[in-house]
Amino acid sequence: MKNNKAAMVAAIVLVAIGLIPWRGVAMSKGQMPAGTSRTAESHTQIPLGDLRLTVVYDNYPDVQGLRSEWGFSCLIEGTEKTILFDTGGDAPVLLANMDSLSIRLEDIDIVILSHEHWDHTGGLRAFLKRNPNVTVYVPRSFKSAFKKQVIDAGAEVIEVGGPTRICRSVYSTGELGDSIREQSLVVCTDRGMIVITGCAHPGIGLIVKKARELIPDEVLLAMGGFHLMRADEDEISDIVASLREAGVLSAGPCHCSGDNARRLFRAAYGDHYLDIGVGTTLTSADFE
Ligand SMILES: [Zn+2]
Ligand SMILES: [Zn+2]
Repeated sequence: MKNNKAAMVAAIVLVAIGLIPWRGVAMSKGQMPAGTSRTAESHTQIPLGDLRLTVVYDNYPDVQGLRSEWGFSCLIEGTEKTILFDTGGDAPVLLANMDSLSIRLEDIDIVILSHEHWDHTGGLRAFLKRNPNVTVYVPRSFKSAFKKQVIDAGAEVIEVGGPTRICRSVYSTGELGDSIREQSLVVCTDRGMIVITGCAHPGIGLIVKKARELIPDEVLLAMGGFHLMRADEDEISDIVASLREAGVLSAGPCHCSGDNARRLFRAAYGDHYLDIGVGTTLTSADFE
């Protein structure tokens, strides 16, 4: 009897010891400490049926009446917060496309910028004029002058270093790469995660690998700019094979992926290739 009681006390103490470091970690908002990616928190998934992705800016055309210009921007709806990932290159094009798609700018809570290239940040200033009530997540490496402009426009800036929780079921990979630092977005759904890239300068293979280290789940879709315009066919084929090996179930290369990469991904992925351009909307029906 006495032994049982002692064992129980010891167990309680062990649990308490285990909990203290986790609760005691001081972090900036959303920052995930190393080694905590496998907590219950990171496994929060939204039903795929709730999610809606709309490409509002891309150089590949899709929906008639929208303008296709060089750059990328994607709206994520159905998650806890409504998110605009990147803002395209040209502000009037971004705003015109969003108006044509009946997207209300004031409904957007969060803007995430993948990297500091004009074709991803160009629409931000005009966006903030219409809706400054947002939190803007930028890689920590962004120039201070850029961050200051965002703060001066009335928005909150969060600098992303390592992997970061954005809101329920949505994460940033953290900034990756050497010369061009870039973050990518991970949305966790009950059918696997969706990885959205801006230009994928660090390499689409590396980004998917990091996303899977962060969230140990299947990749339902990798989409966005894959930056393979100048890659030869052998290189592209190797990347297609490595993504398939990494368990990427569907692929939607657009923006700076290049025509060759789109052709080779389409050939390899067949029905699981998603043809993405400006105005493309993805819902659960696209994954049947
Ligand atoms: Zn770029
Ligand atoms: Zn780009």
